[in-house]
Amino acid sequence: MGWQPSDQLTQDVALEVLLHGPLGRAELARRLDLAPATLTRISSELIRSGIVTETSQVIEGRGRPTTPLDVVPTAHHFLGVKLAGEFVFAVVTDLRARVVRVLDARHHTGSPEEVVDIIHSLRDEAEADHPIDAVGIAVGGVVDADGAITSAPFLGWTDIPLAAMTERQLQRPTACANDLEAFVEALHWFGVGSGHSNFAAITLGVGVGYGCIANGRVLANADSGVGLVGHWPLDPLGPLCRKGHQGCAEAMLTIPAIKRSMLVATGEQLDWDQIIARARRGDDTITRLLERSGRALGQLIAAVANLTAPDFIVIGGEGVDLAEVARADLLDGLDEHRDPRASKVSIELAPGTNEEWCRGAAVLGIRRFVLARGNANNNPLRAETPATDPTPAPEARAAANQA
Ligand SMILES: [Zn+2]
Repeated sequence: MGWQPSDQLTQDVALEVLLHGPLGRAELARRLDLAPATLTRISSELIRSGIVTETSQVIEGRGRPTTPLDVVPTAHHFLGVKLAGEFVFAVVTDLRARVVRVLDARHHTGSPEEVVDIIHSLRDEAEADHPIDAVGIAVGGVVDADGAITSAPFLGWTDIPLAAMTERQLQRPTACANDLEAFVEALHWFGVGSGHSNFAAITLGVGVGYGCIANGRVLANADSGVGLVGHWPLDPLGPLCRKGHQGCAEAMLTIPAIKRSMLVATGEQLDWDQIIARARRGDDTITRLLERSGRALGQLIAAVANLTAPDFIVIGGEGVDLAEVARADLLDGLDEHRDPRASKVSIELAPGTNEEWCRGAAVLGIRRFVLARGNANNNPLRAETPATDPTPAPEARAAANQA
């Protein structure tokens, strides 16, 4: 189980083939600026390790026919875990983050020890069919570079070394990170963000989340996970949030806040699915109430577009349906807060399922596996080397090419 790339270049080649394969050798050498002899050495190592294979497909170029290199996605499997208020959700994915199995279990005390025990039993369940190479855990909270949870208020946790605890008990490489960071990284590696160096994501659910890929890397620091965009001011006439802000993102866009507004307006305790279903049927009261949230969402999208210049913005999370049922109002809010001379903001919707959050977590495990590092718990998203386009300094590259 596991592999250890012998150097940075080997890691670069593995990552390039994982993200963009199948790739012909000439193309691979060009992309990574490698001498043919170097690539031959590296590809032999990767083929021996079982990470990469020569595909049967033959590309006829101008020169000789070539058998491209690709990963063997089904040769490795990963457990992606998302911690929620009452449940531990998990998926098993292959090396390209395709989900092959969905698992979950309820936790009772929510203690770190209980949660690690549950992850352990989910791992055992998964391994009945698929040996697990690495584990990724996504948590809605502040997670440090070692995969320790600094604070996760929804579980009442502070300073829990979750990655280290899980790794010790499961005997599998484990990475843990903030769920938004994991979500945007999954979009970047295997989703709509593949091949894009700049994009942003807004998630709607119990809170409002924001994540961003800038210059090919997840933009993250010690404050990621605090939820700093949650109280962005949007509607001066909106309802109050828990902190007393009028019409902030939390008050306008979260599922609990919208449900509260519905209760006040209709006297009915509706759940989120009912609200969306009635909106789709054209219920007047519901539609009118969602208009303001739709406009507010458009305004937040405009702020993100204006401040961070992304290629596009992904809307995800359990409350993503708001963007669809209130689309016209969203676009009004966006237009109102975006200079007409500026380019149109492109918006993508991501599925708002637990499975999607778990896939993000699995990508943490995949990353940990492909970019295997000495420090077992080093948060892969805050690694020292660049994330997706790891190009060592030209001198280092030249030296390696001569080796
Ligand atoms: Zn607020």
